[in-house]
Amino acid sequence: MASNSEQVEQLRWHKFLVFDDGFVCLVDAMGDDQAVVQAARVSYGEGTQRVSDDRTLIRYLLRHQHTTPLEMVEVKLLVRVPMDAWRQWIRHRTASINEYSTRYSIAIDDCQTTSADAWRKQAISNRQGSEGFFGEEIGAGLSEEEAKLQEHAHKVYKKRLDLGVAREQARKDLPLSTYTEAYWKIDLHNLLHFLYLRMDLHAQWEIRQYAQTIGHEIIKPLFPTVWEAFVDYRLESMQLTRLDREVVRRLAESGKIPADEEAFLAAQDPAWAKLKRSRERDECREKLMLLGLVKGEG
Ligand SMILES: Cc1cc2nc3c(=O)[nH]c(=O)nc-3n(C[C@H](O)[C@H](O)[C@H](O)COP(=O)(O)OP(=O)(O)OC[C@H]3O[C@@H](n4cnc5c(N)ncnc54)[C@H](O)[C@@H]3O)c2cc1C
Repeated sequence: MASNSEQVEQLRWHKFLVFDDGFVCLVDAMGDDQAVVQAARVSYGEGTQRVSDDRTLIRYLLRHQHTTPLEMVEVKLLVRVPMDAWRQWIRHRTASINEYSTRYSIAIDDCQTTSADAWRKQAISNRQGSEGFFGEEIGAGLSEEEAKLQEHAHKVYKKRLDLGVAREQARKDLPLSTYTEAYWKIDLHNLLHFLYLRMDLHAQWEIRQYAQTIGHEIIKPLFPTVWEAFVDYRLESMQLTRLDREVVRRLAESGKIPADEEAFLAAQDPAWAKLKRSRERDECREKLMLLGLVKGEG
């Protein structure tokens, strides 16, 4: 297996493509799995070496949210992201950012485009989400319109620049699909927090593609032991609330496991039972379906 510095050299400046013209690439990394262990051993003292090996220690840290050793590691990326995803990205305040300036330079000419089969429908149950796709025919129309709009916006932008309009003002009508570039530096603890939120199915599909690329292509090979623990204890873990646990207890008592919808509703929290629609009840059902305690549809 390659050492961490060899891994960094192999990955450095390699552009992992996202969409048509976006990318993420590693610029630098300070530290590795071993640096996390080293920091943790300072707090636990010499004796730790004897009672737990490095993997066990890292898994303990992740399981018990002892997070400061992860802050000893830093990762710097160069990213090219459409503005709409970037707006979500920079809500993560714990990173250091240097972004391409469209006051100073001419805006990046490329826009993220959507293929005919990729236009998503508004979700009914979740106002923030999407579900299902439009057919090719409607999608083709939407993609055609998108191309015209992007072309027109960039034509107007260039015309303003040619007329001598200030770059800081000329850019105001560029679409949110326009790409921006930035250096993004963050410690491993906060990076894992970003990945946890943005690899999740509730995150918008576009930013999810970036988070998945960063996670699988960069963080996994650089920090294999931390990554393994992160997947086990955070990414693919599940939080059961007190109310969820009560539902499970009532279901177990009823002996109706896996429960059909009727049995699930009979075991639900009394406060949910009064509501026609309850997001918490839906989330509980989803979790118990994953655990095989409630029957799936069909
Ligand atoms: C699915 C999804 C939907 C969202 N929808 C919306 C929305 O509708 N509207 C909206 O405005 N935002 C929305 N957000 C953004 C969200 O509210 C957070 O701003 C974003 O995810 C960054 O999370 P964070 O603050 O935990 O991360 P970071 O800014 O990276 O902070 C990491 C951690 O540091 C600590 N921290 C950082 N700064 C402070 C501080 N000033 N005070 C105290 N603790 C701090 C917190 O513990 C925080 O969790 C959404 C995010 C997701 C994932």
